[in-house]
Amino acid sequence: MIDLELELRTSEEHVSTLCELYWARNVEGAFVHLVKDLADRFGVPAHRVPALVSEHSVARSATDRCTRCGEGRVLRSRSDLTSHASQRRYEWRCSRCQSEQREESDRAARELEANRRSLLQEVWGEYPERTPVAVEELSLTEACALLALVRVGGTEDLAHLRPRDAWTERFTPTPDFDLALLNELFAARCLDVNPASSIEAFAWDTGRPERFYLSQVSWLVPGAEHTRPLAALARQLEEVFRTGSWPQHWRGELDTLWRRVALHECLAYIETCMADHHLPLRIGDKTRLAIEETLERFSIGQTYNFIWRAAKDAAAYYMRSGIPKQQAANSVVGAIQRGAERAIASNWDVKSFGRDWRAPESTMSAVLFRSALQLADPLAERPPALPSPTG
Ligand SMILES: [Zn+2]
Repeated sequence: MIDLELELRTSEEHVSTLCELYWARNVEGAFVHLVKDLADRFGVPAHRVPALVSEHSVARSATDRCTRCGEGRVLRSRSDLTSHASQRRYEWRCSRCQSEQREESDRAARELEANRRSLLQEVWGEYPERTPVAVEELSLTEACALLALVRVGGTEDLAHLRPRDAWTERFTPTPDFDLALLNELFAARCLDVNPASSIEAFAWDTGRPERFYLSQVSWLVPGAEHTRPLAALARQLEEVFRTGSWPQHWRGELDTLWRRVALHECLAYIETCMADHHLPLRIGDKTRLAIEETLERFSIGQTYNFIWRAAKDAAAYYMRSGIPKQQAANSVVGAIQRGAERAIASNWDVKSFGRDWRAPESTMSAVLFRSALQLADPLAERPPALPSPTG
């Protein structure tokens, strides 16, 4: 049986009596008076009795208490008491304690956030004091990647670069290449982590935000904010590529960069072709090597041709022979190489494929092929022609 604590909130004696009699119970816990009898005795309609009682008194359970402040649960009516008697809740909190707790945890969350913001500033706030990026000191890869980043991730005011997870266009042809370039630019100190990035973009396990998630942080370039370093850098890069007035050392890097971008263009195309035939894809060093070798002799579009044919043959091989899918997929790399070798030996004129509409040109490819090299048909041309300075 649940014990009751009755608090009277009236000075009128007959109302107090009504409240006491309403809640009165015998030793078995049964109510002593019928509501109908109380109604007759006090001259009020029976349906008004519970309302009148709860208006002038508060009944609390002495058994079912808030685990925080210890106050008994309010019982609004006899049926309330009966239902609580059958189902006791443990760890119950009164509504006042619940809202106080919510406020406390909100306050704690706000303090934690303020604390983390100041730690971010402490760890990553050095960028305004660092030397701005000088275009002529960049490598060609860095220059192309930075310009592509501005195009793909730059905010409207060019104050910072949005995190990779928020980009809507492709930075490079493959995620691997995206992350590799971000890593390289960060290591070369061409990019700084923006201390105003989302707090969740950092690992807080050590308490200090030294580790961050490459795809989740937003980025800045070194230099004092009022000098608008990202906007200045973007303008210089656009100009260098538009006029073709490249720093001398870029020319020596061109072939390497072309090969790297071309490799990832082809790896992305393999992925598209394998997905078309529902073949499992596992790109490793062997695939990379085969593509690199093919690109020694052929354009990207011609390499697409070998890839497309190899994937189609692997799918047919799978259908015909009933071998496991992975085994059929593994045959693709060898088939690309054999296709290329046969074409060389037979002196074939290999048709260059165009771009697949499902894999649009990445921004990095557009910067290198179009802005920097000004190629009319980037997939068909190889090796890239050096641009001649126009002024
Ligand atoms: Zn409480």
